[in-house]
Amino acid sequence: MNIVADLHTHTSVSHHAYSTIVEMCKGAKKAGHIALGTTDHGPALQDGAHQWHFQSLEMFIPRILEGVYVLRGAEANILQPDGRLDIPDHVLDTLDYVVASIHNETFLERDPDRITEIMLKVLENPRIDILGHLGAPIFKFDYETLISKCNEYDKVVEVNNNSFYARKGSKENCLEIAKLCKKYDVPISVNSDAHFCLGVGKIDRAKGIIEASDFPEELIINASPENLQKYFMRKKGLDILGEIEKAKESGEFNALD
Ligand SMILES: [Zn+2]
Ligand SMILES: [Zn+2]
Repeated sequence: MNIVADLHTHTSVSHHAYSTIVEMCKGAKKAGHIALGTTDHGPALQDGAHQWHFQSLEMFIPRILEGVYVLRGAEANILQPDGRLDIPDHVLDTLDYVVASIHNETFLERDPDRITEIMLKVLENPRIDILGHLGAPIFKFDYETLISKCNEYDKVVEVNNNSFYARKGSKENCLEIAKLCKKYDVPISVNSDAHFCLGVGKIDRAKGIIEASDFPEELIINASPENLQKYFMRKKGLDILGEIEKAKESGEFNALD
Protein backbone atom coordinates (compact mmCIF):
# COMPACT_ATOMS: atom_id res chain seq x y z
CA MET A 1 0.00 0.00 0.00
CA ASN A 2 1.16 3.51 -0.81
CA ILE A 3 -0.40 6.94 -0.99
CA VAL A 4 -0.70 9.29 -3.98
CA ALA A 5 -1.45 12.46 -2.00
CA ASP A 6 -0.58 13.53 1.51
CA LEU A 7 -3.67 15.16 2.98
CA HIS A 8 -2.17 16.45 6.22
CA THR A 9 0.92 18.66 5.91
CA HIS A 10 2.16 21.93 7.39
CA THR A 11 4.10 24.81 5.89
CA SER A 12 6.16 27.40 7.76
CA VAL A 13 2.95 29.40 8.14
CA SER A 14 2.63 27.18 11.25
CA HIS A 15 5.84 28.36 12.93
CA HIS A 16 6.95 24.96 14.14
CA ALA A 17 7.07 23.76 10.53
CA TYR A 18 9.93 24.67 8.26
CA SER A 19 9.13 24.61 4.55
CA THR A 20 7.26 26.85 2.15
CA ILE A 21 4.30 25.68 0.07
CA VAL A 22 6.61 25.52 -2.97
CA GLU A 23 9.06 23.29 -1.10
CA MET A 24 6.23 21.09 0.17
CA CYS A 25 4.95 20.65 -3.38
CA LYS A 26 8.46 19.76 -4.54
CA GLY A 27 8.54 17.20 -1.71
CA ALA A 28 5.22 15.77 -2.94
CA LYS A 29 6.54 15.55 -6.50
CA LYS A 30 9.68 13.81 -5.26
CA ALA A 31 7.52 11.33 -3.33
CA GLY A 32 5.76 10.50 -6.61
CA HIS A 33 2.45 12.03 -5.51
CA ILE A 34 -0.12 13.63 -7.78
CA ALA A 35 -1.46 16.07 -5.16
CA LEU A 36 -0.58 17.78 -1.89
CA GLY A 37 -3.06 18.70 0.81
CA THR A 38 -1.87 21.77 2.69
CA THR A 39 -3.40 21.97 6.17
CA ASP A 40 -1.86 24.57 8.44
CA HIS A 41 -3.00 24.93 12.03
CA GLY A 42 -6.03 27.00 12.94
CA PRO A 43 -5.54 30.26 14.87
CA ALA A 44 -6.31 28.90 18.37
CA LEU A 45 -2.85 27.36 18.58
CA GLN A 46 -0.19 29.87 19.55
CA ASP A 47 1.60 29.48 16.25
CA GLY A 48 -1.45 28.75 14.13
CA ALA A 49 -2.22 30.66 10.96
CA HIS A 50 -4.39 33.76 10.81
CA GLN A 51 -7.79 33.09 9.21
CA TRP A 52 -6.74 35.24 6.23
CA HIS A 53 -4.16 32.59 5.40
CA PHE A 54 -6.92 30.08 4.65
CA GLN A 55 -9.19 32.57 2.94
CA SER A 56 -6.44 33.71 0.58
CA LEU A 57 -5.30 30.27 -0.55
CA GLU A 58 -7.75 30.22 -3.45
CA MET A 59 -6.66 33.68 -4.57
CA PHE A 60 -2.89 33.21 -4.48
CA ILE A 61 -2.00 29.52 -4.70
CA PRO A 62 -2.40 27.95 -8.14
CA ARG A 63 -4.13 24.61 -8.54
CA ILE A 64 -1.04 23.04 -10.04
CA LEU A 65 2.21 23.96 -8.33
CA GLU A 66 5.56 22.28 -8.99
CA GLY A 67 3.64 19.74 -11.02
CA VAL A 68 1.27 18.59 -8.28
CA TYR A 69 -2.37 19.47 -7.65
CA VAL A 70 -2.79 21.61 -4.53
CA LEU A 71 -5.70 20.74 -2.25
CA ARG A 72 -6.45 23.75 -0.06
CA GLY A 73 -7.18 22.70 3.48
CA ALA A 74 -6.82 23.49 7.17
CA GLU A 75 -6.19 21.61 10.38
CA ALA A 76 -8.81 23.28 12.52
CA ASN A 77 -8.76 22.92 16.30
CA ILE A 78 -11.66 21.18 18.00
CA LEU A 79 -12.51 23.33 21.02
CA GLN A 80 -14.22 22.45 24.26
CA PRO A 81 -16.85 22.36 25.61
CA ASP A 82 -19.00 22.01 22.47
CA GLY A 83 -16.68 20.80 19.69
CA ARG A 84 -16.80 24.01 17.67
CA LEU A 85 -13.83 24.92 15.48
CA ASP A 86 -11.42 27.85 15.66
CA ILE A 87 -11.94 28.94 12.03
CA PRO A 88 -15.20 30.71 11.06
CA ASP A 89 -17.61 28.90 8.76
CA HIS A 90 -17.36 31.45 5.93
CA VAL A 91 -13.59 30.83 5.83
CA LEU A 92 -13.97 27.05 5.96
CA ASP A 93 -16.36 27.34 3.02
CA THR A 94 -13.52 28.63 0.81
CA LEU A 95 -11.45 25.47 1.36
CA ASP A 96 -11.43 22.12 -0.43
CA TYR A 97 -11.50 20.16 2.82
CA VAL A 98 -11.09 20.45 6.56
CA VAL A 99 -9.19 18.23 8.97
CA ALA A 100 -10.37 18.71 12.56
CA SER A 101 -8.10 17.69 15.42
CA ILE A 102 -7.82 17.88 19.18
CA HIS A 103 -4.59 19.44 20.45
CA ASN A 104 -3.21 19.45 23.93
CA GLU A 105 -2.79 23.23 24.10
CA THR A 106 -6.38 24.10 23.19
CA PHE A 107 -8.33 21.23 24.73
CA LEU A 108 -8.08 20.57 28.46
CA GLU A 109 -10.87 17.99 28.84
CA ARG A 110 -9.56 14.54 29.80
CA ASP A 111 -12.72 12.70 30.84
CA PRO A 112 -13.37 9.96 28.22
CA ASP A 113 -17.17 10.28 28.43
CA ARG A 114 -17.08 14.05 27.94
CA ILE A 115 -14.64 13.71 25.03
CA THR A 116 -16.97 11.15 23.43
CA GLU A 117 -19.87 13.61 23.75
CA ILE A 118 -17.81 16.41 22.22
CA MET A 119 -16.65 14.19 19.35
CA LEU A 120 -20.26 13.23 18.60
CA LYS A 121 -21.02 16.95 18.23
CA VAL A 122 -18.02 17.27 15.91
CA LEU A 123 -19.58 14.60 13.68
CA GLU A 124 -22.62 16.81 13.14
CA ASN A 125 -20.52 19.65 11.65
CA PRO A 126 -20.92 19.29 7.87
CA ARG A 127 -17.82 21.43 7.23
CA ILE A 128 -15.51 18.81 8.73
CA ASP A 129 -14.25 16.15 6.32
CA ILE A 130 -11.45 14.31 8.13
CA LEU A 131 -11.04 13.55 11.84
CA GLY A 132 -7.32 14.06 12.53
CA HIS A 133 -5.10 11.84 14.70
CA LEU A 134 -7.81 10.36 16.92
CA GLY A 135 -5.47 7.92 18.67
CA ALA A 136 -3.61 10.28 21.03
CA PRO A 137 -3.49 8.51 24.41
CA ILE A 138 -4.25 11.61 26.51
CA PHE A 139 -7.59 11.98 24.73
CA LYS A 140 -8.75 8.40 25.02
CA PHE A 141 -12.49 8.08 24.47
CA ASP A 142 -15.09 5.62 23.21
CA TYR A 143 -13.84 5.07 19.67
CA GLU A 144 -16.55 2.59 18.69
CA THR A 145 -19.41 4.98 19.53
CA LEU A 146 -17.84 7.59 17.27
CA ILE A 147 -16.68 5.39 14.41
CA SER A 148 -19.95 3.49 14.15
CA LYS A 149 -21.58 6.85 13.26
CA CYS A 150 -18.92 8.24 10.88
CA ASN A 151 -20.62 7.05 7.69
CA GLU A 152 -23.92 8.56 8.72
CA TYR A 153 -22.14 11.95 8.81
CA ASP A 154 -19.77 11.36 5.88
CA LYS A 155 -16.54 11.56 7.86
CA VAL A 156 -13.13 10.14 7.04
CA VAL A 157 -10.84 8.97 9.84
CA GLU A 158 -7.13 9.72 9.66
CA VAL A 159 -4.23 7.38 10.38
CA ASN A 160 -1.48 9.88 11.16
CA ASN A 161 2.15 8.81 10.84
CA ASN A 162 3.41 11.60 13.09
CA SER A 163 1.37 10.18 15.99
CA PHE A 164 3.82 7.32 16.30
CA TYR A 165 6.62 9.83 16.88
CA ALA A 166 4.99 12.86 18.51
CA ARG A 167 2.07 11.30 20.41
CA LYS A 168 3.72 8.40 22.20
CA GLY A 169 1.55 5.42 22.99
CA SER A 170 -0.69 5.98 19.97
CA LYS A 171 0.08 2.67 18.30
CA GLU A 172 -2.43 0.46 20.12
CA ASN A 173 -5.15 3.09 19.86
CA CYS A 174 -4.52 3.60 16.14
CA LEU A 175 -4.73 -0.12 15.51
CA GLU A 176 -8.01 -0.29 17.43
CA ILE A 177 -9.33 2.67 15.42
CA ALA A 178 -8.28 1.10 12.10
CA LYS A 179 -9.97 -2.18 13.00
CA LEU A 180 -13.17 -0.32 13.90
CA CYS A 181 -13.10 1.60 10.61
CA LYS A 182 -12.81 -1.70 8.78
CA LYS A 183 -15.65 -3.18 10.82
CA TYR A 184 -17.97 -0.25 10.01
CA ASP A 185 -16.72 0.38 6.41
CA VAL A 186 -15.52 3.86 7.34
CA PRO A 187 -13.04 5.39 4.87
CA ILE A 188 -9.65 6.48 6.12
CA SER A 189 -6.83 8.69 4.88
CA VAL A 190 -3.21 7.84 5.65
CA ASN A 191 -1.10 10.96 6.12
CA SER A 192 2.37 12.03 7.24
CA ASP A 193 1.50 15.26 9.11
CA ALA A 194 4.83 16.45 7.68
CA HIS A 195 6.34 19.63 9.12
CA PHE A 196 9.23 19.66 6.61
CA CYS A 197 9.38 19.08 2.87
CA LEU A 198 11.41 15.88 3.10
CA GLY A 199 8.66 14.35 5.25
CA VAL A 200 5.90 14.54 2.63
CA GLY A 201 4.54 11.04 2.05
CA LYS A 202 6.42 9.51 4.98
CA ILE A 203 4.00 6.89 6.27
CA ASP A 204 6.44 4.22 7.45
CA ARG A 205 4.73 3.49 10.76
CA ALA A 206 1.17 4.12 9.64
CA LYS A 207 1.73 1.43 7.01
CA GLY A 208 2.25 -1.08 9.82
CA ILE A 209 -1.25 -0.27 11.14
CA ILE A 210 -2.75 -0.69 7.66
CA GLU A 211 -1.06 -4.06 7.27
CA ALA A 212 -1.84 -5.26 10.79
CA SER A 213 -5.53 -4.49 10.32
CA ASP A 214 -5.50 -5.84 6.75
CA PHE A 215 -7.27 -2.65 5.75
CA PRO A 216 -9.06 -2.69 2.37
CA GLU A 217 -7.41 -0.35 -0.16
CA GLU A 218 -10.73 0.76 -1.65
CA LEU A 219 -11.55 2.42 1.68
CA ILE A 220 -8.33 4.49 1.75
CA ILE A 221 -9.23 7.76 0.00
CA ASN A 222 -5.63 8.65 -0.87
CA ALA A 223 -4.32 5.20 -1.82
CA SER A 224 -4.83 5.57 -5.58
CA PRO A 225 -5.50 8.34 -8.13
CA GLU A 226 -8.98 6.87 -8.69
CA ASN A 227 -9.86 6.85 -4.98
CA LEU A 228 -8.65 10.43 -4.58
CA GLN A 229 -10.55 11.62 -7.64
CA LYS A 230 -13.71 9.85 -6.56
CA TYR A 231 -13.68 11.35 -3.07
CA PHE A 232 -12.99 14.97 -4.02
CA MET A 233 -15.26 14.86 -7.06
CA ARG A 234 -18.15 13.70 -4.90
CA LYS A 235 -17.45 16.10 -2.05
CA LYS A 236 -16.36 19.25 -3.85
CA GLY A 237 -16.70 18.58 -7.58
CA LEU A 238 -12.90 18.74 -8.01
CA ASP A 239 -11.57 17.15 -11.18
CA ILE A 240 -8.05 16.46 -9.95
CA LEU A 241 -7.04 14.06 -12.71
CA GLY A 242 -8.58 16.25 -15.41
CA GLU A 243 -6.67 19.34 -14.19
CA ILE A 244 -3.41 17.39 -14.09
CA GLU A 245 -4.02 16.16 -17.62
CA LYS A 246 -4.75 19.72 -18.81
CA ALA A 247 -1.55 21.00 -17.19
CA LYS A 248 0.44 18.24 -18.88
CA GLU A 249 -1.02 19.12 -22.28
CA SER A 250 -0.37 22.83 -21.89
CA GLY A 251 3.02 22.30 -20.22
CA GLU A 252 2.00 24.65 -17.38
CA PHE A 253 3.37 23.05 -14.26
CA ASN A 254 4.07 26.32 -12.41
CA ALA A 255 7.48 25.06 -11.40
CA LEU A 256 10.32 27.36 -10.41
CA ASP A 257 12.98 25.21 -12.00
ZN1 LIG B 1 -2.50 17.96 14.77
ZN1 LIG C 1 -0.86 18.51 11.90
